[in-house]
Amino acid sequence: MFLKELSLQGFKTFARKTTLRFLDPQNGTHAITAVVGPNGSGKSNVADAIRWVLGEQSMKLLRGKAATDVIFSGSDGKARAGFAEVELTFADVSGIEGIDFSEARISRRLYRDGESQYAINGKTVRLADVHMFLAQANVGQKSYSVVGQGQVDHVLSASPEERKSFFDDATGVKPLQLKRHQAALKLRRTRENLEQAERVVQEISPRLTTLRRLVKHLGQRDAVETELNNAQIAYFGTLWNDLQKQLRETERVHDLCEATADKQAQALQTERDRMAHMEQAPIETDDTDSEEISTIQVRYDALQEKRTEIRERLFEAQKRFEIAKVKSANTWTPLPLSMIIERIGALSSALKLLKEQSAHGTLNARAMDHILEQSEELLRRLQKPAPESQKPSAELVTSIRALQTQESAVVTELATIKQALHDHAEKSKNERKAFFALQNSLLSLQDQLRVEESKRNEARVNLARVETRLEDLEHDMIETLGDHVGAAKTYKGRANTDDLHVRIQQLRHKLDMIGGIDEETVAEYEEAKKRHDYLEEQIADLVSALRETEKLVDELEEQIKKQSSQAFAQIQKQFEHYFKILFGGGTCSLKEICAKDVEMEANEEADTENLESRIENPNRVIGIEIQATPPGKRLKSINLLSGGERAMTSIALISAIMATNPSPFVVLDEVDAALDEANTHRFARIVEELAQTTQFIIITHNQATMRAASVLYGISIQDNGVSQVLSLKFEEAEPVEA
Ligand code: ATP
Ligand code: MG
Repeated sequence: MFLKELSLQGFKTFARKTTLRFLDPQNGTHAITAVVGPNGSGKSNVADAIRWVLGEQSMKLLRGKAATDVIFSGSDGKARAGFAEVELTFADVSGIEGIDFSEARISRRLYRDGESQYAINGKTVRLADVHMFLAQANVGQKSYSVVGQGQVDHVLSASPEERKSFFDDATGVKPLQLKRHQAALKLRRTRENLEQAERVVQEISPRLTTLRRLVKHLGQRDAVETELNNAQIAYFGTLWNDLQKQLRETERVHDLCEATADKQAQALQTERDRMAHMEQAPIETDDTDSEEISTIQVRYDALQEKRTEIRERLFEAQKRFEIAKVKSANTWTPLPLSMIIERIGALSSALKLLKEQSAHGTLNARAMDHILEQSEELLRRLQKPAPESQKPSAELVTSIRALQTQESAVVTELATIKQALHDHAEKSKNERKAFFALQNSLLSLQDQLRVEESKRNEARVNLARVETRLEDLEHDMIETLGDHVGAAKTYKGRANTDDLHVRIQQLRHKLDMIGGIDEETVAEYEEAKKRHDYLEEQIADLVSALRETEKLVDELEEQIKKQSSQAFAQIQKQFEHYFKILFGGGTCSLKEICAKDVEMEANEEADTENLESRIENPNRVIGIEIQATPPGKRLKSINLLSGGERAMTSIALISAIMATNPSPFVVLDEVDAALDEANTHRFARIVEELAQTTQFIIITHNQATMRAASVLYGISIQDNGVSQVLSLKFEEAEPVEA
């Protein structure tokens, strides 16, 4: 890659559009361009233009105050420009990222209102894109690509830290550092995003856990509900079947009791009818009966009296007959003496009694008759009867016979009447017996009926109870099972209802614990889960991005370290080489200063640059120290060098850097100003050597330097303060001069 063209318009003294063309390299060697001209002609403005188009922001380096100071400010004969524009054309840029063409035109334009614009190949870009392009093209910015007038020893007067930055430019690690910077930025963004995502996840996690538990419970609900429903169907089905069976049995018993009680009632009725009939009928006959009976009784009594009378008469008659018979038998026997004495004694007592009675006037005729009879009897027994008087008379016999007939007639009638009475008594006794029997039977029937009725009532109560229970059960079933009542009523199995009851209570409790299905909860859970999953995924992505970026940073860091230490060694070597050429001897060295060497400052700096803190470590190089001792001298501090020595040391270092990490081009504005003639020649030799790899644009007043150039551009300034460029090829010019 090399510079092909520089075009300026409205930039400082270049009011008109002015183009400087540079030669293509020949046989691998770059042409050296020298810009010459009188003081104040605008040579340094060319260097400024190149610095400016490459994105320089420092107005100090551009020798101005305000940004718009670079715009042509006008003069007596020329109006000021509205804008400044510089365009730099690079040729042979293949291999640079984002550049599809073989040429790259970098341009910068600034208007008076401050509006600024960068473009690459006419396409507006950001400054960062320009930086990236330059870094890839290995064009350093802070460094030596443009060494301003009087700034050649800047590398010596700069602080070790500034020098380090300069070296980074030089060692070609800038693109890597840029990449590392971007990676670090990405790291920070990723970390921030990760923290934020983790924070959000942390915020929603507890709610999500709660929701997950809820939804899990809700998921169980279906299973519990199904089991509960089945358990309830089995439970109620079994109860229903049992009760149905009980109902049938109770109905059967009830019907039986009803029939029995009816039959019993009928039987009782029949007996009652009989009783009523019996109670109505017998009374009238009784009256006549008793009348008849009393007549018969009267007759009976009369007959008995008559029989007694007949018997008495018969007895009298028979007695007389007997006596007659005895008399007729003639066998008289006197009474024994003892008896006679006894009977006379009795008579005597009776007479005494009689005498007493007569004395009292209460004389009893019958008693006297009795005494008389007794005494006559005794007399008869003591006298011997006359034989004729002793024979029974026929009349007596007849009388006895008549009496006997009468008696037998009376006895016969009496027997008949007695029989009749007996029959009558017997009859009424039987009737009474039948009545009582009926009465008993009625009572017993009533008792039985009462028993049967109580049985029937019990059966009715039982039936009603079972029916009520069935109704209650059905009501419960409808309430509990709803549409599943049919399933329970047709349940075929037989379950243990006690166990089921316990299980049903458990399941209901479980359902209560689970709670109702809340669609909003499910929706909220799904929403939260979606968000959570998304965040988790994002976190995973971020973490892996973080790892990758960290890895990238580490790799870059490693690469930077490797590359810079290699380059540093190389620069050190070349520094010595060029130092010796320029000074014709002497010693010089470069020394890296590590973070641990400069603790305080480094740490403070690290704080402000916390992006880089991750890759901060005590061994990190933070500065470069320079030592230079010209031949024959002992001093080591570069501060003690003369102006020319400073310039040569600086040139040696810049040359060493260029040799190590060639920049595509370099602009040197009067770096040879302080050199004596001999040293100018040495300088020219070095430039020629380095032109192998670097394109030189050298602003100079030195002849020797001019002679090293292939092309000369003469800058002149006109009266109106506008620079003009005269192009002059050396090969062509030389013959003119010669
Ligand atoms: P020397 O050989 O002395 O270093 P030079 O050729 O390098 O001189 P420059 O520094 O390039 O000269 O030019 C400086 C001139 O440019 C000054 O005269 C200054 O007035 C002029 N100049 C700087 N900025 C502007 C501007 N914006 N508009 C017009 N002229 C400007
Ligand atoms: Mg100048």
